[in-house]
Amino acid sequence: MHKLTIAGIVEGLGRGDFSSEEITRHYLRRIEQLDARYNSFISVTPDQAVARARAADKRRSKGDAPPLCGVPIAHKDIFCTEGIRTSCGSKMLDNFVPPYSATAVDNLAQAGCVTLGKTNMDEFAMGSSNETSFYGEVGNPWDTGRVPGGSSGGSAAAVAAHLCPAATGTDTGGSIRQPASLCGITGLKPTYGRVSRYGMVAFASSLDQAGPMTRSAEDAALLLQAMAGFDPRDSTCSDIEVPDYSAGLDKPIDGLRIGLPREYFEQGLDTGTETAVRGALAELEAMGARLVDIDLPHSHLSVAAYYVIAPAEASANLSRFDGVRYGYRCKNPRDLNDMYTRTRTEGFGDEVKRRILVGTYVLSAGYYDAYYRQAQKIRRLIKNDFLAAFEQVDVIAGPTSPTTAFEMGAKSADPVQMYLEDIYTIATNLAGLPGMSIPAGIIDGLPLGLQLIGNYFDESRLLNIGHRFQQATDWHQQTVSQCMQEV
Ligand code: GLN
Repeated sequence: MHKLTIAGIVEGLGRGDFSSEEITRHYLRRIEQLDARYNSFISVTPDQAVARARAADKRRSKGDAPPLCGVPIAHKDIFCTEGIRTSCGSKMLDNFVPPYSATAVDNLAQAGCVTLGKTNMDEFAMGSSNETSFYGEVGNPWDTGRVPGGSSGGSAAAVAAHLCPAATGTDTGGSIRQPASLCGITGLKPTYGRVSRYGMVAFASSLDQAGPMTRSAEDAALLLQAMAGFDPRDSTCSDIEVPDYSAGLDKPIDGLRIGLPREYFEQGLDTGTETAVRGALAELEAMGARLVDIDLPHSHLSVAAYYVIAPAEASANLSRFDGVRYGYRCKNPRDLNDMYTRTRTEGFGDEVKRRILVGTYVLSAGYYDAYYRQAQKIRRLIKNDFLAAFEQVDVIAGPTSPTTAFEMGAKSADPVQMYLEDIYTIATNLAGLPGMSIPAGIIDGLPLGLQLIGNYFDESRLLNIGHRFQQATDWHQQTVSQCMQEV
């Protein structure tokens, strides 16, 4: 059963091949027996899952099944889940049980999904390797000595290891796409505003966006369909109508104009990565797409601008963790100041503190103009680059990540090296555009993704291209035999 995609599970449940309770128990058993290898889950919720699965089976037998009725999935531990601990990978929220669920979680529950548990992640979604989690690092299922990417590393590893058929993730600078690339799965970051951010622990509010992490583009369409839509509780959530994402999957792609940014291909691109990406592009070309060279002249400024804007927003968002309202509080504070100081000193990890320091600095009087305002101006230039490019092409393609999965510890001592992991993904967040990573090759036994960047609210096109590519290739079906093991 763990070989099935979401589309396959929906069919199997519909035909009565198995019940939701059976497949839910199957995945719970896999998590229990295999996750010690990967550490991809922070919390597993067997009782709630089985109860929800039984309710789904009952609904189905009454002929009243919503589209994903009884499909088990996992949620990144950044999404608030009513009555289920939501840690955000931090000691600060180790004891936090939210009284409500995020809209994305609620929407998936409305569509019938069953929650298996909450997946591991970099602390407060800050990282590219899942090594900053309070709950320990996550092993990449392709090689457990290597990182799964981050910050949605637990979700990516869990899907790749067949511990769940799909999971949610969030992407502030690449956190859905980069782990998807490193774990050989499909990950879609929608347009900013497509999915509600309500109930998602905020990192950088103008960049954060939730999306699906799946084994196919077809599955990403099914999940996004349920997640997306207007939410009056998030003022940045768009009320543009949600199209039928599955309807357009099979459309032919001949005549499609794919832009290849010179900046992504010319400057020091790893040769293995280039070979895999060019191979995938040749495949799309063979299907009738046209490859067009384009320029994104301000690309080289995106990481620098992001590491001013994201920490600035994080420093404001994380000020709420002060030991007063909820979450961790230090023992025996002497006075109010001592409580604030020790709560935050003891509750946050190093990377989070680094971001808070940088963010506070760039927002302070005297530096605001020199750093924050400049970064915002660069952000506009980056957005304009994309707008100009989309005058010439329908979609933009390039690598998702600079290389395949690196060894644990290889970059943790050098924050700048780690920050460069997102060199191809960050501009998309700064511009608010949708981006998707699909498996496009295997180099020395490790998977790597192709990134597709779309125009605003053009997720349908990304899913269509991804699906056509996956009909013609089998990179997305590759897996290590250890992950297919029966339990
Ligand atoms: N790696 C980037 C960071 O550390 C992006 C993380 C994310 O997308 N949440 O900020």
